[in-house]
Amino acid sequence: MKICFATNNAHKIEEVKAALGKKFQVVSLAEIGCQEELPETGETLAHNAFQKARYVKNNFGVDCFADDTGLEVVALNGAPGVYSGRYAGEPRSDERNIELLLKNLEGIPSRKARFRTVIALILEGQEFQFEGIAEGEILEKRVGEKGFGYDPIFRPEGFERTFAELSMEEKNEISHRGKAVRALIDFLNQRKS
Ligand code: IMP
Repeated sequence: MKICFATNNAHKIEEVKAALGKKFQVVSLAEIGCQEELPETGETLAHNAFQKARYVKNNFGVDCFADDTGLEVVALNGAPGVYSGRYAGEPRSDERNIELLLKNLEGIPSRKARFRTVIALILEGQEFQFEGIAEGEILEKRVGEKGFGYDPIFRPEGFERTFAELSMEEKNEISHRGKAVRALIDFLNQRKS
C-alpha cells in the first residue's frame, strides 16, 4: 500500500519506515513532488495534523498521514505543547528550545512531562485520528547524542537513560510516535483484511 507521510523530516521518515516494515510503501513529500512548507497554524496538535494531511490530499491527490507532536510539561501547564518546535522562536533551534525549557524549569521540583503525538489519516475519502503518549521527566541537563529535539533532556518512565541514549529501535518501542504509528498500522491492517 502506497501512502505519503506528510513530513520533510528525514529522521521521522526513517523512524516510521522502521516501524512500518515492508508491507507499506511510505513515500515522503519530496517523492510526491511537494516542495513547499505545509501549513501548520492551529492551536492543537490534531488541528495541525489534519491541516497538513488535507493540504497534501487536496493539492497532490494522494492518501496520506501527517503527525504533530508536542512536549507537554506538567509544571508549565502543558507548555511548550503545540509550540514545541518553535518554543524559543524562529529560526527553529533544538539547542535554544532546550536552553529555554531548562531555564523555565529552574527551581521547579516537579519535572513530569509527556510527549504526545497525534496522527491524522486521510484514506479513501475518510478521516481518522490516532494518538500516542510517552510519559517521563525532564532532566536538569543534556545526556546522550542520538535522536533530535528534546531527546537529550527527556527520560522516559521506567528507564535510566534518556531518549538520546536509546537506539532508534528502542525508542520506537516506547515512544509517542512509535505508539501512534502502531495504532495507525493496526487500523490499516484491519481495514485491508
Ligand atoms: P513535530 O510536530 O513532530 O514536528 O514536532 C514538533 C517539535 O517537537 C519538534 O521540533 C521537536 O522539538 C519536538 N519533538 C517531536 N518529536 C520528538 C521526539 O521524538 N523527541 C524529541 N523531540 C521531539
